[in-house]
Amino acid sequence: MTVGVSVTGREDRGGPRADEPPLLEVRGIDAGYGGLGVLEDVSFTVPRNSVVALLGPNGAGKTTLLRVISGLLRPTGGHVLFDGEDITAARPHRRARQGLCHIPEGRGVYPSLTVRENLVLHTWKRQERAAVERAVENFPVLGRKLNQRAGELSGGQQQMLSVVRSYLDDPRLVLVDEVSMGLAPVVVDQIYEFLARIIREGASLLLVEQYVNRALAAADRVCVLAKGRIAYDGEPTGIREEIFEHYLGTASATG
Ligand code: ATP
Repeated sequence: MTVGVSVTGREDRGGPRADEPPLLEVRGIDAGYGGLGVLEDVSFTVPRNSVVALLGPNGAGKTTLLRVISGLLRPTGGHVLFDGEDITAARPHRRARQGLCHIPEGRGVYPSLTVRENLVLHTWKRQERAAVERAVENFPVLGRKLNQRAGELSGGQQQMLSVVRSYLDDPRLVLVDEVSMGLAPVVVDQIYEFLARIIREGASLLLVEQYVNRALAAADRVCVLAKGRIAYDGEPTGIREEIFEHYLGTASATG
């Protein structure tokens, strides 16, 4: 499997724009489910034009944090700012319209709809043909399956459909949850090449990834979440061995 550096094109895009205000700022977030607290005082930023990897053991709260950022879960404390605007109370569809796109864990496609229907679901009628063409250009295999139900596609093809749908909305920040889960290495490479393309076109990425080495190679910054708190926030090269051993050692590092 190709390691992420060239795949995400970090060297082509000139790196994060640290001199500008961040694209995303998460400030002191507390969140959980019912009475169960999961996230506690979580703060970090995603600079413009950057890839931030969000790592940590199972159950650390990574998916919960992405859900707070995209508006699927209301935090009990703290703020989420997108492009300088406080969006803590904004509904998910409004955030999506602002360019905040969430690719959820476990393939965000509608299995009973066809591939074409999945692609045009949030598209104006007059833009449908362009949306389908754009998707097929990125993943030609989808062009041969347009009239097939999405639920009948292979896992890799469903993931292609899931990620390419995000691209059709011209995203500015893409939240990607375990995009490689259960996929063959060659498909993972294709998905990462696609993510590299949307980054080159100006989007930033917040990446939850089971393959720690792949994530570290791709990322400009890394946040390690452990038991709902930030255990590390900085450059990939600065992670201390103890953080690796305590929080990342159990994850697969075959990136
Ligand atoms: P994984 O890598 O296993 O997906 P994660 O870091 O993404 O882990 P979360 O999925 O955010 O972790 O889960 C954090 C905690 O919240 C876990 O203890 C989990 O059991 C709990 N949790 C997650 N979703 C719910 C839910 N819908 N209702 C109640 N508890 C939940």
